[in-house]
Amino acid sequence: MESLAAITLMGRGAGASQETEGPRALRPYFPTAAHQFVWRNWDIIPQERIARALGSTSGLVTKLARTMGLGQQNIPARHWQRLRFKGLRRNWSFVPYSQLTLLLGMSVPEIQVMLSQDAFYIADLGPKPECPRVQIEKPLNLGSGIIPHFRAGMTTGPEEERFHFMELLDRPISKSPEAGGAGKIALKPRIAFPYYAKFGNVLGNADFRSSYPAALLENMARMDLGAIWLGAMYQHLIRTRIFPEFGRESAAQLANLNWLIDEAKKHGLGVYLYLNEPRGMPANFFKTYHEIKGAPGRPGDGLFSMCTSTKMVQDYLVEATAMLFKEAPGLEGIILITASENPTNCYSLTRHPKCPRCSRRSGPEVITQVVQLMDEGARSVTPDARVIAWDWSWEIVEDDPQKQIIDRLPSSATLMVDFERGTVIERGGVKSRVEEYSLSVVGPSPRAAAHVRLGKARGMAVMAKIQVGNTWEVGLVPYIPVEQLVARKFEAMRSVGISGAMESWTLGCYPSQNWDVAESFYRDHSAGSDRDLENVAASIYGDKAAKRVVRAWQLFSDAFQQYPFSDSLVYSSVVQCGPAALIYFEPTGLTPRIMNSYDNLDWTQPFGPQIVSDVFEKMGSGWREGLKELEGAMNDVPAAHRRQAAKDLGVCRAIGLYFRSIANQVRFHASRQRWKMSVDGMETMNSVVKDEMSIARKFLEICSQDSRLGFEASLDYLYLPLDIREKIVACEYMVEKQIPETRARLKA
Ligand SMILES: [Zn+2]
Repeated sequence: MESLAAITLMGRGAGASQETEGPRALRPYFPTAAHQFVWRNWDIIPQERIARALGSTSGLVTKLARTMGLGQQNIPARHWQRLRFKGLRRNWSFVPYSQLTLLLGMSVPEIQVMLSQDAFYIADLGPKPECPRVQIEKPLNLGSGIIPHFRAGMTTGPEEERFHFMELLDRPISKSPEAGGAGKIALKPRIAFPYYAKFGNVLGNADFRSSYPAALLENMARMDLGAIWLGAMYQHLIRTRIFPEFGRESAAQLANLNWLIDEAKKHGLGVYLYLNEPRGMPANFFKTYHEIKGAPGRPGDGLFSMCTSTKMVQDYLVEATAMLFKEAPGLEGIILITASENPTNCYSLTRHPKCPRCSRRSGPEVITQVVQLMDEGARSVTPDARVIAWDWSWEIVEDDPQKQIIDRLPSSATLMVDFERGTVIERGGVKSRVEEYSLSVVGPSPRAAAHVRLGKARGMAVMAKIQVGNTWEVGLVPYIPVEQLVARKFEAMRSVGISGAMESWTLGCYPSQNWDVAESFYRDHSAGSDRDLENVAASIYGDKAAKRVVRAWQLFSDAFQQYPFSDSLVYSSVVQCGPAALIYFEPTGLTPRIMNSYDNLDWTQPFGPQIVSDVFEKMGSGWREGLKELEGAMNDVPAAHRRQAAKDLGVCRAIGLYFRSIANQVRFHASRQRWKMSVDGMETMNSVVKDEMSIARKFLEICSQDSRLGFEASLDYLYLPLDIREKIVACEYMVEKQIPETRARLKA
């Protein structure tokens, strides 16, 4: 997860204290906390374990589940490792550690180790609230039958098993018309993240190799990609003389890395490591190494920089990087973020580091020295290693554009620029800066254009960081079908002389039409005309449907270009959950977190709730026009392509539901207190809730049949069908009970 600098700003919103957060997290449509406990775990934890954690019996837990319309459990148990964070997320706010450990089968230290692996996890969960023990209350009157408002959330029929997409990717995709075509390669490297590989310190995972089956890699080659990337941490991967406590797992991690390099090579793919080095270390570490203790990390993370203004740490960066290339000789390169994200050098999070040494040096000097030292280490072993210096968040140390930094970089390194970052957009008369990657903005931003010029003036190779399949604008769908915007982005990259691209962070690498469009730009012949888009459309939907499909993509592109981008909107809101996000009849007072803002609307700034809901409404209606075209084209799709086309249509419909639902949710939470003051207001509320419920039903139908929705490699599933069912139950409870009761009070 990138951009934590922006995210951590949000955690400060409506500050509920840890003592009250637990009870506040209980939802009124669950008759007791035990009901909520059973529901929230039913699709991920076996009932025996739920019973054990509750101190109850399987029989009683099943009975309780039945009263909420929960049927047979169908848990994707072989993917349990990937559901652990989901388990934490679902239970964190209302279940005490004593029960959480039983539920998840993890000790408290194991949970803490997991959370420490990436700054995102803890920013998402927040501090652990104090929670009373959850138990089945006695006497428990379960009554007979299903609790009325839970009937609305019942489903019939089988659903596609979660993670089923792994099987889909286990067979070769067809090559696009452009793959391996004529012409010289004009874009190299082309790096992306395998769709369901894991993110973090993964090289030590016991199941590491299962994340990279041959078919997944082969399909990336068929998408005409040239390399994959994965994360790593030197302290686990590399053994050096300087810090002998590091690298205890080195042998196993290097064996996995070399295995992956060999496997990737079989498919013509290179391997890159994404690094934030040297990683901040806990205070304890500096009892032995007091002389290198640098600036503190983020509030509460307990970390301090290993100061890169000391010779010891400088030597370490050179030696560890040299060792990496020596021990993994087939490694193609390394990708370096040197500001924001996990705490690394003393300037990585601040322009004014609390470090006696670095505060006497400039930020650009410190940042570029890290790149220079790692470049030196890499090149001492592998002269043509590619060391990619990414301009991500360099504004932490220098205002845009970062001339001082770029002028100091070693010219042997490759500069990688965020292609859209720094673009100023205006929605409803309010300006906002895009501080992220974006498909709604084509680029280059003025910052990117300046960085390209500065890098080229230094004689450096200049790459772009872009997203092809999707972005965090709508991150939990396999792709966003805005092909004209994808094509224009590649045209723009070509016109400023970009020579390579990192084409995905951890999201968006499902093989899709977006990648087919991208491929048409990989070679030096000109591409991007309507004809090229039609060729891509024809290969998926058949010749007859192609023209209409391209028109649909144009309408989608037009609608999407209005996206009201801000960092808080994409990261610290309900935007990623879309229709799966709950709405709340009463103010919750809960602290907004990454990707879950509850009913807090601070994330709508700088635009404010009105503009955000208006813009999403407008995007929704524009999107509907595109859907009409696409639906119309379906009749012309040949039988052999229909199944795939129907699935694509499902993705496009789901995105349209996102826009409508986000507009509704903002409107609901901005207006609910006012609505509660009049009978008319309650009528409006009732119709919004009913609309939201019907959106959730349609969304559930699509998600049930498409295991890709809600999935992203670093988050795994942000929502599962059961979360959408809870949304429906919550809406039904409002319609059945909360709204009528308020209305009756108003009339009395
Ligand atoms: Zn320092």
